[in-house]
Amino acid sequence: MANLVEQYIEIAKKRNPGEPEFIQTVEEVLTSIEPVLEAHPEYVEAGLIERLIEPERGISFRVPWVDDEGKVQVNRGYRYEFNSAIGPYKGGLRFAANVYPGIIKFLGFEQIFKNSLTGLPIGGGKGGADFDPTGKSDAEVMRFCQSFMTELYRHIGPHTDVPAGDMGVGAREIGYLFGQYKRLTNRYEGVLTGKGLAYGGLAGRTEATGYGIVFFAREMLKHCGEELAGKTVAVSGFGNVSWGTVQKLNELGAKVITISGPDGYIYDPDGVTGEKVDYMLELRASGKNICSPYAEKFPGATFYAGKKPWEVKADLYIPCATQNEIHIEDAKTMVANGCKFLCEGANMPTTNEAIEYLQKNGVIVGPSKAANAGGVACSCIEMGQNAGHTVFSPAQVYEQLETIMVNIHKNAAAACEKYGLGYDLIKGANIAGFEKVAEAMMAQGIV
Ligand code: GLU
Repeated sequence: MANLVEQYIEIAKKRNPGEPEFIQTVEEVLTSIEPVLEAHPEYVEAGLIERLIEPERGISFRVPWVDDEGKVQVNRGYRYEFNSAIGPYKGGLRFAANVYPGIIKFLGFEQIFKNSLTGLPIGGGKGGADFDPTGKSDAEVMRFCQSFMTELYRHIGPHTDVPAGDMGVGAREIGYLFGQYKRLTNRYEGVLTGKGLAYGGLAGRTEATGYGIVFFAREMLKHCGEELAGKTVAVSGFGNVSWGTVQKLNELGAKVITISGPDGYIYDPDGVTGEKVDYMLELRASGKNICSPYAEKFPGATFYAGKKPWEVKADLYIPCATQNEIHIEDAKTMVANGCKFLCEGANMPTTNEAIEYLQKNGVIVGPSKAANAGGVACSCIEMGQNAGHTVFSPAQVYEQLETIMVNIHKNAAAACEKYGLGYDLIKGANIAGFEKVAEAMMAQGIV
């Protein structure tokens, strides 16, 4: 069977040259589900894996727009509709300079299993553009979003494909995208999630990803007989995901000692609390994508230029910035510092080599596709709210979110145990996510 999995990985490599991020996630998922393939030879016969690693549809399009100087700019937009076995394609849009098919495909592939883990009826997809919103004016962002939607609108719909935010796409961008969709189609419908509260958005969606991550981390610790209260936590990033994570960690009695940006990290031994949490929003709103001003404003904190927070000793690490921010050297430092828990907030923040090292050294790793699924789960609740022409209260949302996260942990833990893999949440989450998608694909024939 190992041989077969290697063959599938070879197919993926051949078909997707120069896309290492996509290959990285395919390797991680396929290696994990090996025992399931062994138990289900019919999956192999039905070519299920060959189909799973090939997106159902991928579109790439020109996004022309005019900047504030009157100069024409051309970006490239994407939407990869990866798998619709269990529901309409669902996943965010990422606007970042480094976006190319390998990034969108890795995110789209991960989204299949993440969305399945939520237990809700949503398939996997992802999109975005190589557009860097840093330093752009609101008017430029609006013109870009309008041009982007002028192509995307024909491929999406509330029963077809429902995009949302990701890095570089927040409430402002979703607003402009929604406005243009409505104008082009003359339809007021739940085609995007992460909308503002005034026009169909879900209470709690902004903090949902971060809150969910902390619920998941709490369950991991509980499983190991420990509790979050009193733990020191090193968090990376200072965007939406980190912000929600820091809030919930504070609420549950943990102490956040780091946040970070592309410019370096902040070490705050007194804890990122109160007005410092609000200040994270100000930093983000500045559009400069740097965190160093935090240390000027709060003198108890220190800024370490060009470094990542993994050199700081903490009980729990929660990377919330971006993919591949924890490499093997970082993993070695963490282990040397006595790290016991790592809970991934960002999508695929840890390299496969680093995960292997951490797990071999007894670190419990909570994978992002399980831990950060609270965001997309709330997106699905937002779809339900829009379809039902109703409004849910924050309390209703938070309650569902917590239940969903507890169940994801329970199902991932049960899946690895079922296959005799101990408490390996990476394998468990991949298996639990895969099982439902595989069952649906088998029922639907060769499509
Ligand atoms: N971009 C988020 C993720 O990585 C959210 C996707 C969504 O809400 O559709 O899961």
